[in-house]
Amino acid sequence: MVFPSEPEFEQALHELTTSLEPFLAANPHYKKALDVVQVPERVLQFRVVWEDDQGIPQVNRGFRVQYNSALGPYKGGLRLHPSVNLSILKFLGFEQTFKNALTGLSMGGGKGGSDFDPKGKSDSEIRRFCNAFMLELYRHIGKDTDVPAGDIGTGAREIGFLFGAYKKLRNEFTGMLTGKGLNWGGSFIRPEATGYGVIYYVEHMIAKACPEYSLTLPSTLVAISGSGNVAQFTALKVIELGATVVSLSDSRGSLIAEKGYTKEFIQEIGQLKLKGGSLESLADRSGYTYHAGKRPWTLLPTVHIALPGATQNEVSKEEAEALVAAGVRIVAEGSNMGCTEAAIAVFEASRKANPKGVWYAPGKASNCGGVAVSGLEMAQNSQRLAWSTEEVDAKLKSIMTECFKICYSAGGKWSGEELKEGTLPSLLSGANVAGFIKVADAMKEQGDWW
Ligand code: NAP
Repeated sequence: MVFPSEPEFEQALHELTTSLEPFLAANPHYKKALDVVQVPERVLQFRVVWEDDQGIPQVNRGFRVQYNSALGPYKGGLRLHPSVNLSILKFLGFEQTFKNALTGLSMGGGKGGSDFDPKGKSDSEIRRFCNAFMLELYRHIGKDTDVPAGDIGTGAREIGFLFGAYKKLRNEFTGMLTGKGLNWGGSFIRPEATGYGVIYYVEHMIAKACPEYSLTLPSTLVAISGSGNVAQFTALKVIELGATVVSLSDSRGSLIAEKGYTKEFIQEIGQLKLKGGSLESLADRSGYTYHAGKRPWTLLPTVHIALPGATQNEVSKEEAEALVAAGVRIVAEGSNMGCTEAAIAVFEASRKANPKGVWYAPGKASNCGGVAVSGLEMAQNSQRLAWSTEEVDAKLKSIMTECFKICYSAGGKWSGEELKEGTLPSLLSGANVAGFIKVADAMKEQGDWW
């Protein structure tokens, strides 16, 4: 049978399949689970017609991929970006399924969105788009069925409009979206959760691999890409702990800080991004150098920790090599599939060859804090209770700790490598194998494969 080309999905599937080889060789009966789990349970595609400020009808494509519900209701964000297509949403939904398994919470995997571009649109246009999008999506989601959240291009404003539209269509106030406003069902720490979670995961990696690069030391240099939700809160946590953030970027270029970013400057960038601005407009700030059309990875002579936080495939093989040459020890993805397969190969080869090599964590492990706090938001909504910032933060930390331990242990057992004295296990293998086993076992018990 001939399938359409879906490059991003095929990449995600190839990564998982390759990681599973040693496990499947020892447990061949799970091969059937791999055949089944790679097919989404349901794919919804629909037309979204909305009115622009000139009264002209505009049309976009809407999608929801309900990938896997073995562990709970479908759960995963909505991406609004002109590049959105089925390949990208399938890769994201597939990754999300295993990521959600690694949180230990009861959530299946899904992803959705539209090729609508929120950039340059007025608030009224965004509201009319969200209303039109929900006019179809509301039939397919619900607090016990499918609970979407934010992603690229979908922040608090869009979640608010989408929630309002659903509430009117269904005449019910339920927690069928996460990332809601704090005074109408949202959770403390949800906006911060992905970025903070990355750092909680990375702290475990540093403790095992390179305690000399503790995030409490100003001499530890951290390169971050992106400047949206994930990148901002990753950077703010690094600064709070005491290390130095040397870069941020956006779709047009990178802004390198000579002496490190300040908390105030990151907050200013947050306001700029809310208005759809570009880092380019900050190019004349003293102490910062702007590089048009470049990602940060090749621009820094020394980097200890690199945290991609913008989008998929944002670290190439050459950029991975530049990071290795700059002395990087930890690479952990805030973005989903932030590194190309060739970049991952560079990092994994470095780890295998040298106890002081690069230790890489895939997004499905290191960025699972966002969806984890979405899961905690669902739990609070079910009880109609709100937990304190401290409670949610403590739960997030413990979920990231468990996730790290699971990946570390499964990586040691199932990577198929003879680990040399002092070398670290593959967190890539660990995350893929541990996530897969959990989903596959639940599917088997529910009669999805036998
Ligand atoms: P966001 O707030 O919309 O920010 C996205 C950032 O990435 C912006 O700086 C944007 O630049 C940049 N970007 C987008 N597309 C790009 C491209 N094609 N090339 C270069 N830069 C690009 O989104 P986000 O929520 O931070 O998400 C960032 C990544 O984290 C995504 O991979 C997402 O799937 C992943 N993630 C997010 C969450 C979450 O809770 N939000 C959870 C887990 C994983 P411009 O400002 O110029 O557009």
